[in-house]
Amino acid sequence: MAGKLIIGNWKMNTRAQSAQSLVDALLEQPACDQPWVGVAAPAVYLAALGARLQGRSIRLAAQDVSAFASDGAYTGEISAAMLQDIGCAYVLVGHSERRQYFAENNPQLLAKMNNALAAGIVPVLCVGETLEQREQGDYLEVIYQQLAVLAEINAGEYLIAYEPVWAIGTGKVATLEQIAEIHSAIKTWCLQNAKPSASIRVLYGGSVKAENAESILMTDNVDGALVGGASLDAGSFRMICQAAG
Ligand code: PGA
Repeated sequence: MAGKLIIGNWKMNTRAQSAQSLVDALLEQPACDQPWVGVAAPAVYLAALGARLQGRSIRLAAQDVSAFASDGAYTGEISAAMLQDIGCAYVLVGHSERRQYFAENNPQLLAKMNNALAAGIVPVLCVGETLEQREQGDYLEVIYQQLAVLAEINAGEYLIAYEPVWAIGTGKVATLEQIAEIHSAIKTWCLQNAKPSASIRVLYGGSVKAENAESILMTDNVDGALVGGASLDAGSFRMICQAAG
């Protein structure tokens, strides 16, 4: 299953010591220390983890980036250039928790994507519908509206992560049929609406675990996984990485 990408999203978890221990445990695992594996750690720990990952294969990822393009009076913000400075290869953009708690919208997400791309960081645009939107039947429309950001991107490599909000941290995984349907719809939409990019890769996220990783990764049009809770446990994350390798 080569070519699949696994990114662990630690969210607001770990402390300096446990973040280091987790990365050390991953580095000891050949299945994890691979260029197709990334860890999105809390921003304050990225520099230390980046130093630890020097010369190794695991890629460093950030969970967010500022929508402001250049240095300046933006208290609390972290720019794409700063993330690039400490070796980030990826940054998550528009995770549903940021859309929900920080009201992130398409113009902001477009700016974040462009800033990441300008800094040579691959942005991972997260999209997905809520349970209510799914039950109302207009989930594809919701996802297309979120993807609209990509129609404004002129060039560069990016990734998309399909994460149904109702499957995040709930233990409820989308069925393989649901995943295949949405991933195929996302790729078709991109072919029709997004500017040509080298490749359109779509990760699945939402309660990915050691037990379901293999079947999800083998599903049509699934190019990898964005893993939340299970990425905090080195043993579980190793098994997910093994399923991708
Ligand atoms: P989960 O989170 O794996 O804990 O469901 C996924 C995510 O939010 O990226």
